[in-house]
Amino acid sequence: MSTKTQEELAAYRKQIRELAEGPFDEMQKEIEVTNKFPQEFFDLAIKNDLYRYYLPEEYGGWGLSELEILKIQEEFSHGPGGMRMHLHHAADLNWRILDDYGHEDLKKYIGMDKFQDKSVYINFALTEQTGGTGADIHTTAVKQPDGSYILNGEKWLISHTDCSDYTYVIAVTDPDDPKDSRLSAFVVDNHAPGFEIVPMPHMMGCRGAGHAGLRFTNVHLDPMFLLGEEGQGMEIAIHSLSISRVHIACSNLGMAQRMLEMSIKRSNDRITFGKPIAKRQMIKTQIANMAMNIHALRCMVYDFARDYDADPNNDQITQKAAMTKLFSIDTVKMVSDNMLEIFGGDGYFEDCPYGPTERLYRDCRAMWLEEGAPNVQRTTIAREVYNKNGQVKYLD
Ligand SMILES: Cc1cc2nc3c(=O)[nH]c(=O)nc-3n(C[C@H](O)[C@H](O)[C@H](O)COP(=O)(O)OP(=O)(O)OC[C@H]3O[C@@H](n4cnc5c(N)ncnc54)[C@H](O)[C@@H]3O)c2cc1C
Repeated sequence: MSTKTQEELAAYRKQIRELAEGPFDEMQKEIEVTNKFPQEFFDLAIKNDLYRYYLPEEYGGWGLSELEILKIQEEFSHGPGGMRMHLHHAADLNWRILDDYGHEDLKKYIGMDKFQDKSVYINFALTEQTGGTGADIHTTAVKQPDGSYILNGEKWLISHTDCSDYTYVIAVTDPDDPKDSRLSAFVVDNHAPGFEIVPMPHMMGCRGAGHAGLRFTNVHLDPMFLLGEEGQGMEIAIHSLSISRVHIACSNLGMAQRMLEMSIKRSNDRITFGKPIAKRQMIKTQIANMAMNIHALRCMVYDFARDYDADPNNDQITQKAAMTKLFSIDTVKMVSDNMLEIFGGDGYFEDCPYGPTERLYRDCRAMWLEEGAPNVQRTTIAREVYNKNGQVKYLD
């Protein structure tokens, strides 16, 4: 049950949009070069309740519905991509996996109330350099006679490695098991002996979000650090990523909305051949297509959130999450291309007075990959569509 009124939430959404487009944007100019968030960013995020608003009341949060949470995510997604990535993860996988699958003694040990001010932050590591994302991974957690596990292997392209206390690691516990139950999920202490961070080069966009590889050499894991049951790793990854995929879609929604608003303003101001370009039928068509796709995406995000609020294990979650994420990529791709075209040459430069056109263009392209490439979404959608004979259910 939400502890905030609708008026308070509307004021909060405005506050967060102003923060994202104001101080956060300003701070990002230096982060583009250093690739590291300054302490000031974390302080501002704490001060503005950005580690708190999504938590249940019992953990110090506001007890919001998924719909209310996603509406806030749309607003901070107007800001720099790396910060959006960090805050999106904070609002979702960070605390939710432990809450959903952690045993009571592990929750007490880590402290569920420590997420509210980032006293604890947990990143997520599935991808590996040596195999395909999903069942085809090679990091192993071998069970010892005393019930503990020894972890060996590597992870690649992992976000938030420079500001996390723990890592959710998916590893093979039984290589001979049928495909889906080979894997288990663990929480690993980032300060444990044998845990190493392997630097990676700067990325195209979303700078500052601490991307690196991980190396595990004989890391000892107490049985308490197993999530769910042994063999449940694939299920934990798929269920957790399903919800997170809609947070990615909502991030694309926020970015696309900002690009639309910037394009409207620019097309009204820019005069060629005696008229604002906004008066030209071809520009209006582009703006109309951008707005239509953004509206459709917002409807998909809200529809998913209502399903999830009614029942987090509802059988529509997996297919709708994958559809929403895939559609959001197509939307942000089209919107960012149209934005660049409408801005003309000025849009290709940094310090554009209407907003960060070139940075938004780079930032949004991380979304092709975050939480599964488009083919992974297509595979999931096709499987669900065949299983359900093409039927999609909606709440009355
Ligand atoms: C900015 C960023 C942040 C990330 N953060 C994290 C993180 O925090 N944690 C984490 O675990 N991972 C993270 N990743 C990794 C991300 O999840 C992967 O990049 C993504 O899942 C794609 O996997 P891959 O890079 O191994 O591509 P590959 O598996 O090499 O795939 C390359 C292409 O081939 C296609 N392909 C592969 N196999 C098949 C198949 N069987 N059938 C059809 N097509 C196929 C893919 O769809 C893709 O288009 C991050 C990536 C980026 C770019």
